[in-house]
Amino acid sequence: MREYATQMEAARKGIITAELKIVAKKELMTAEELMPLVAAGKVVICANKKHKCIDPQGVGSMLKTKINVNLGVSRDCKDYDIEMKKVLEAVNMGAHAIMDLSSHGNTIPFRRELTSKCPAMIGTVPVYDSVIHYQRELNTLTAKDFIDVVRLHAEDGVDFVTLHCGITRKTIEQIKTHKRKMNIVSRGGSLVFAWMSMTGEENPFYEYYDEILDICREYDVTISLGDACRPGCLADASDVCQIEELVRLGELTKRAWEKDVQVMVEGPGHMPIDQIAANMKIQQTICDGAPFYVLGPLVTDIAPGYDHITSAIGGAIAASAGAAFLCYVTPAEHLALPNLEDVKQGIMASKIAAHAADIAKGVRGAREIDDRMAEARRVFDWEAQWECAIDPETAKKIRADRKPGHEDSCSMCGKFCAIRSMNKALAGEFIDIL
Ligand code: SF4
Repeated sequence: MREYATQMEAARKGIITAELKIVAKKELMTAEELMPLVAAGKVVICANKKHKCIDPQGVGSMLKTKINVNLGVSRDCKDYDIEMKKVLEAVNMGAHAIMDLSSHGNTIPFRRELTSKCPAMIGTVPVYDSVIHYQRELNTLTAKDFIDVVRLHAEDGVDFVTLHCGITRKTIEQIKTHKRKMNIVSRGGSLVFAWMSMTGEENPFYEYYDEILDICREYDVTISLGDACRPGCLADASDVCQIEELVRLGELTKRAWEKDVQVMVEGPGHMPIDQIAANMKIQQTICDGAPFYVLGPLVTDIAPGYDHITSAIGGAIAASAGAAFLCYVTPAEHLALPNLEDVKQGIMASKIAAHAADIAKGVRGAREIDDRMAEARRVFDWEAQWECAIDPETAKKIRADRKPGHEDSCSMCGKFCAIRSMNKALAGEFIDIL
């Protein structure tokens, strides 16, 4: 019998859990250094006690930035075997979390397969699943129906749930008054908004928040407070709707902590580069340092097909300014359900953003691999370069496609290779160019 309900409660009681020990080791910290951060809510360890195969990860701005991969079937792409293949490949490529956003068919077996086979943190958005689970139109669902789906996901071993608790009936008026260009682009947020509009009732995830906290406490499910009003275009960034919701998310964070429930707070969205760092600061102040989980931010609206790049630019800036968790974005964003190649592109872009941010914010050990890469480049040790590379497969393929005449260069400059010339010059050797 555990003497604690959640990782936060354990840390507050001074208990070093097995999960905390593993996370501390991964982050090159001692358990004693990590524990106060978990106790204060600055780091979460998303580990549902029923997710037995989990390889625990910590999420917090002072730890290595983590990345999430969204997967799951839709009505148009409904093959669960293909989706499971993507999940396992995503984990092999370095995803720390998988969010199952399935919106078609019986979602239970896939979710249970995830929490029995996948070592990454598993996240869901229960409001998506509610319509699917009951096979009833949204307006016929009751507040209790929604809460029961949260419980079902917790029982299935899900480690974190996105809940759009921060919008209320007041938000309905605000969205009408402030005339955003893109209104609400959060899928879960739009469902909650639609339900409130059709039923005239208050947001059930807000109204019954205490019941939700009890469920999350029982299974140690981390709440990821969804940002229903995250900007869906540059024009809506940092507007009244976004900031007003953030203030409420700050209040809800503190209520969760009173029950030792772990919390992350979700963030933008689409946002011009010059607003990103300020948004991270505001979030950290309003939410008392709870880990920030950003969905991008996409720094321009005009690059469909390349939104893994627009979001990696924003993600790198956000994480270097304090965001702890990046939700990947693929080239298929705004266009289609991502295929395996899109998933790979999205993961690589996020990994680059996360790593670049970790170097900038001085996360322990983050720079070492770059220094090893520089050494390997200087001495033309190609094997060592592959070992350091974020995507060795692609790097090897490009070099093999366009082999140079000499191993001590690449086909970009050939004998004009600066590295080769400098190595030879400093060794006092003759430098042949022709
Ligand atoms: S040939 Fe040019 S690009 Fe290639 S390793 Fe040498 S300096 Fe770098």
